[in-house]
Amino acid sequence: MSAIFNDGKFNKEAKRYGILPGFAMGIRTGYDFDREETGEEAQTKLRKEKPSLLIGSPICGPWSQMNNINKDSENMRANMKKAVKHLRFTLEMFIIQIEENHGFVLFEHPWTAKSWDTDIMQEMMHLSGMRIYRCHQCMYQDKEIQANGKYGYIRKDTGWATNCPDIGSLLTKTCNGKREHVCLENGVTARAAFYCIGIVRAVLRGLAKACKRNEASQLALDFGYTCKPCAPGKSSGGTIANIQSLPHTTTRIMSLKSLDVRYVNSPGHNPKSMVAS
Ligand SMILES: [Zn+2]
Repeated sequence: MSAIFNDGKFNKEAKRYGILPGFAMGIRTGYDFDREETGEEAQTKLRKEKPSLLIGSPICGPWSQMNNINKDSENMRANMKKAVKHLRFTLEMFIIQIEENHGFVLFEHPWTAKSWDTDIMQEMMHLSGMRIYRCHQCMYQDKEIQANGKYGYIRKDTGWATNCPDIGSLLTKTCNGKREHVCLENGVTARAAFYCIGIVRAVLRGLAKACKRNEASQLALDFGYTCKPCAPGKSSGGTIANIQSLPHTTTRIMSLKSLDVRYVNSPGHNPKSMVAS
């Protein structure tokens, strides 16, 4: 498995699940995706190595800060431009991974990030087998952290998009309200930007299960068995259900037209209305 806009955390754990670690390209591992060459290098590696899973977690900050769009500063505009570019690049990588490599992809952004409402995400959700899942990360953290003189867990409402139901179904735990939460501020926010070990393990466990399943069906094909057709809507373990009402219902008028990103808000066209159960 490989990752972009990510450190090597998944790779470090991968072997324990019998998964071969691949490339992990992110600012922390010395790759700057603002440079054209880095993008080309990543695409070459992806085509050559054909990982079973490609994880993409492009910067999400600007998509969240857009709530304060009134403060349309020069700096914010530049960050936003970067965020759009990285999101679009993630989509390009996912197209290669799904259509050429026939592999799995996993995308992550905060549930409330405005990125979900863009035409870029809409296109991503049109890729074969893509579904959206939602979890609260407090349910995956194994220990409390200290913030503002208090110990607790970070709730972190998170959205995932993947074409691997075995992974997605493990990323659906939502807060049971039994844990003390701490608020995110300053340094704590930075720490929360990285996945806790519980999330990493859930993803790897799901991937290991999917790989085993694929091996089994490959074996069946090799021996000439034919697969009994699955019941309609049950073929991949995920049906589109639980259509959730969208948190944003008004049409957003972007003051960032120059960025060439379009917002789609009509229900049924918005990717977020496709939440897997
Ligand atoms: Zn919680």
